Amino acid sequence: MKFETRAIHDGQEADLKTGAVVIPIYQTSTYQQEAIGKHRGYEYSRTGNPTRTALETALASLEEGKYGLAFASGVAATNTVFSLLKTGDHIIAGDDMYGGTYRILERVFKKWGISMSYADVDYLSSFEKAIQENTKLIWIETPTNPLLKIIDIERISEIARKYNILLAVDNTFASPYFQRPLLLGADIVVHSTTKYIAGHSDIVGGAIILNDQKLYSELKYYQNTAGAVPGPLDSWLALRGLKTLAIRMKAHAENALYLAKYLSKHHKVEHVYYPGLDSDNNYMVARKQMSGFSGMLSFKLKGDRSAVDRFFANLKLFTLAESLGGVESLISYPALMTHASIPREERIKRGITDNFIRVSAGIENKSDLKNDLSSAFKYV
Ligand SMILES: *Cc1c(COP(=O)(O)O)cnc(C)c1O
Repeated sequence: MKFETRAIHDGQEADLKTGAVVIPIYQTSTYQQEAIGKHRGYEYSRTGNPTRTALETALASLEEGKYGLAFASGVAATNTVFSLLKTGDHIIAGDDMYGGTYRILERVFKKWGISMSYADVDYLSSFEKAIQENTKLIWIETPTNPLLKIIDIERISEIARKYNILLAVDNTFASPYFQRPLLLGADIVVHSTTKYIAGHSDIVGGAIILNDQKLYSELKYYQNTAGAVPGPLDSWLALRGLKTLAIRMKAHAENALYLAKYLSKHHKVEHVYYPGLDSDNNYMVARKQMSGFSGMLSFKLKGDRSAVDRFFANLKLFTLAESLGGVESLISYPALMTHASIPREERIKRGITDNFIRVSAGIENKSDLKNDLSSAFKYV
């Protein structure tokens, strides 16, 4: 069956007991055992909960993977993948990614004796060059946050396979609707379901999807042992969100392209970052591995920090906020928001300058969005 159908049906059969068409919120911590050890598949809700099972099944289906695991947040999912490593191991990550991923590597895993290198995402060769004898994992995000660069998953996976290294892809920005990394050779897909998958800015959640049974058992063991699981209500909201992922993603991408085109012609804009513009450096690779360009774009305003402040202060529809992927349009300032944990010099070196703005295009009417930007530009 096709994506739109699987989003609505996989893992979501009518409730066996009542016939409820929508999976109930199984708000229970524990389950009756008929005799010691004789249970109906569930013992305790950290280990498993039927609402969460439905979400995990649906997520696996959308990513075309065998197994799904849901977490209390995207970083909890990320943390679980990194927990596959041990002291002495080495990770290679892309040098443009979610600030919190950088933070957990630098502040948590480094002190446990795991080392890391950051490869220049503009050059695939930089990943191969960074490989050491103890490299166990390559971690990439594509499109990257916040520069919207595209990394060729198929080619990175060839490198990883050649050296017997695991490849994990954070697929949050593309969503499974536009990109399925497991089909391109990745071993593990990670999501912040907070973003497009839940899609309504009302929960925090994460997920891991993969095919390898042994790796799945290891990750599932850690999920239960460390316990960063989503509650039944959050699982239910993520599940309710992903039913409409296909139509939402189409609308996000249409609006993002429209705004990217508008911004790239605006005299107060220095540069627009959107892989769906055919003038963008990443356009060809994006076309190869994605079926659409998703809803995130960034741009540099002509001006300094005070111009950015005036611009933000005069927006009415775009909300200044962290996060992305909800139905409402958001605007953010990575330097002091999502990427504040990266030292200033390092951040500027990576291209996140003081006039850099990130946009999550919502699914409002696109002319309304353009008009809102247009009015705010008058104050820049
Ligand atoms: C938000 C985000 C995360 C972290 O997810 P949380 O749900 O906030 O914990 C990880 N990766 C990317 C690309 C993100 O945008």
